[in-house]
Amino acid sequence: MKLSNLTLSTPYLSLDPIFYHEVAPAPLKNPKLVSHNLEAIKLLGLDPNDLNLTELEKLLNGTLQFKGSRPYAMCYAGHQFGYYVQRLGDGRAINLGSVKGWNLQLKGSGQTRYSRQGDGRAVLRSSIREYLMSEAMYGLGIPTSRALAIISSDEKVARERWEHGAIVLRLAPSWIRFGSFEYFFHTNRHKELETLADFLLHESFPEFVGVEDPYLTMFGSIVKRTAELIAQWQSVGFNHGVMNTDNMSAIGITIDYGPFAFMDTFESDYICNHTDTQGRYSYNNQPRIGYWNLERLAHALSPLVTPEKLKTELDRYGDYFTTRLMELLRAKLGLDTPHENDSDLLRALFTLMENGRIDMTPFFRTLSRYDGNRDTLLSLTLAPNQLNEWLDQYDERLSLNSSSVEKRHQQMLRTNPKYILKNYILQEAIEAAEKGDFSLVNDLLKLAQNPYDEHELFDRYAGITPPEHKNLKLSCSS
Ligand code: AMP
Ligand code: MG
Repeated sequence: MKLSNLTLSTPYLSLDPIFYHEVAPAPLKNPKLVSHNLEAIKLLGLDPNDLNLTELEKLLNGTLQFKGSRPYAMCYAGHQFGYYVQRLGDGRAINLGSVKGWNLQLKGSGQTRYSRQGDGRAVLRSSIREYLMSEAMYGLGIPTSRALAIISSDEKVARERWEHGAIVLRLAPSWIRFGSFEYFFHTNRHKELETLADFLLHESFPEFVGVEDPYLTMFGSIVKRTAELIAQWQSVGFNHGVMNTDNMSAIGITIDYGPFAFMDTFESDYICNHTDTQGRYSYNNQPRIGYWNLERLAHALSPLVTPEKLKTELDRYGDYFTTRLMELLRAKLGLDTPHENDSDLLRALFTLMENGRIDMTPFFRTLSRYDGNRDTLLSLTLAPNQLNEWLDQYDERLSLNSSSVEKRHQQMLRTNPKYILKNYILQEAIEAAEKGDFSLVNDLLKLAQNPYDEHELFDRYAGITPPEHKNLKLSCSS
């Protein structure tokens, strides 16, 4: 199918207008298509070989509309850094409608009723980060919103410096957030709260329509998805950076990429967000914050479901998280069956990674080829004795495996990525793009989507992060 034949529907607009603001995108000056993503294009049922790129560019810039599209911004509230803010909403995102279960949204396409003091824009730097990172998470098998294309422009946008305005077309099965429920709860609009719960149920949890306690069941599923999502983040060293409840997806996917980072050197209390001086959203705090945010959601749902029942579901969070994390970490070590001492082995590993200032990704990738020869692994740590001792335990533990060494290597090489998009790598692509060269953005898209493949030409991005780029903090301004 061609872009011009794609027809969107807008079920959200069947709700009361208090849920949204109908607003048209405001085009940018001299738009240029930076990159488009064939994987996402296929999701919409479009033929990637018959794609009119001029049309695509116009659709992103809002000078051409999809059939059936009626653009709107969604209303929500949220707890930001622990404090409740009643009026947030899509301040710079505009929804176009949905097709094949994907809700299309432009980010950076101008002001809406919810913009507050903001200009409704997004800069090229942060848009490239979101575009590539969504696809990197997808490549790693981590639930996430997706990104279909990105445009840059000659529009000047004021941040710490003047930057290029840009727009990303992003997709998600739902853009409803924990904060969407908080908005209606805190304004005492319980009828609308129920309408929203019903909408989400039909949109994203149709299997629970008609069950005895649908909202409770749906909440239980959100608890599980959120716990498992954060376990996945932890397993790859991903730090989201702004886990405010307005940035928490009600379907448990990663959304709203801001000052995020994949850790370079493993540091348990790493904070990627420069403005997060207290470390509320540090790597180590993410699981706890996930729970805290779910408590806020439970509170918001309390007019619809008995709080005790919500609490029972909430109490499962820790088990969901630990079970998933253990599964993921066992797979990273190539352990094919659980064993009672695995958590000790893993704890010791994370301690020695921190003590030895180990770069997580190359370490696990090297471990994926471990055959008893320790030289390369030992060269990756500043505390080789500790690693040596741990490897003795690991050798012993591997002897309990039922599969062959070769099988283990194969499985680990499909579990431990060779490429993750560390901040310094993204920065190279951003700097080239700001000068008009989009080739690295497009190359990184391929690495992001296929992180376990070799891509020899890009070996330089698979090693240890150069010291001057390690564990940088980024500002929230985007
Ligand atoms: P974030 O934490 O980046 O997801 O954003 C928090 C809130 O600020 C959301 O309501 C955003 O829509 C809004 N926002 C962020 N940047 C801008 C901007 N440049 N213009 C308008 N609203 C913005
Ligand atoms: Mg947000």
